[in-house]
Amino acid sequence: MMRKFYWLVLLTVFSSMASAQFSVVTTVKPLNMIVTELTQGVAQTHQLLPDGSSPHDFALRPSDLQLVKDADLFIWLGPELETFLSRITPNLDNAFALTAQPGIDFYHYEDGHDDHSHDGHNHGEGTIDPHIWLGPQQAQQVATVITAKLVELDPANGEHYQANLAAFNQNLQSISQQIEESLAPVRTNGYFVFHDAYGYFEREYGLNHLGHFTVSPDRRPGAKTLVAIKRQLADDQAVCVFKEPQFEPAVINSIVRGTEVKVGELDPVASTIPVSAGSYFVFLEQLAAQFTQCLDVQKQTQLPAEGEAHSAG
Ligand SMILES: [Zn+2]
Repeated sequence: MMRKFYWLVLLTVFSSMASAQFSVVTTVKPLNMIVTELTQGVAQTHQLLPDGSSPHDFALRPSDLQLVKDADLFIWLGPELETFLSRITPNLDNAFALTAQPGIDFYHYEDGHDDHSHDGHNHGEGTIDPHIWLGPQQAQQVATVITAKLVELDPANGEHYQANLAAFNQNLQSISQQIEESLAPVRTNGYFVFHDAYGYFEREYGLNHLGHFTVSPDRRPGAKTLVAIKRQLADDQAVCVFKEPQFEPAVINSIVRGTEVKVGELDPVASTIPVSAGSYFVFLEQLAAQFTQCLDVQKQTQLPAEGEAHSAG
């Protein structure tokens, strides 16, 4: 009786070892969504940052470090975004920084940010814009780079990873086409964003970004920036100012007071979308809808404007 049980335990242990899946840990949620597409049916993926948290002001806990160390592959954006990891990653042999990879068309923050400072923060001018999960073209390049790494480390499942990548690219292309059409009517309407995170998305779809309150959300908007934005709002140059769920500064509400400018919200980290197959595309669609909602001037002028009564027809 005892012996039988012993063998049963041993068998269970061995079979679970044999079926132990390759494990990936990522940092921000949208990156986890991309990796979920790429590892479907082959590997497991976990996300380091809790839902709704920002990579800009995150602090690593000991349990987080253990999760990272236990992964077969740890994918992070890079020191330009996740400063909280830059001290530990040199000691990890499973760490894979996306901003260090060739094959991705990075944009760089341009000179001329008036709120820049030399405080050692990396999310400033001249450096890589690390928000690459917000651009469809870059997401495709990221997916290609990650797939190559997965195939290298887990060659037994190489064909499966390649098939997942092909499906990802196909879905991405069709979603991106739809997004382009949905944004076309509002793309010339000017707006301000809270932090300078959407450059990849904005360039892809030719949106009219007039400026941002801060380069990095852990830095307060500079006084000169606020004066300049207020002036542009007074000149009717913008139809919308976007806040973010992670950072809701009173400054945005106060700056639009007394103007016709709408306040919208953009969520760059998919806080409320559960990670599942297809969730990355839901995230991109949500972002497009958030832009369209606020930039749509028709919706803004639903209240009858002065002298413009609803005429027949
Ligand atoms: Zn950011």
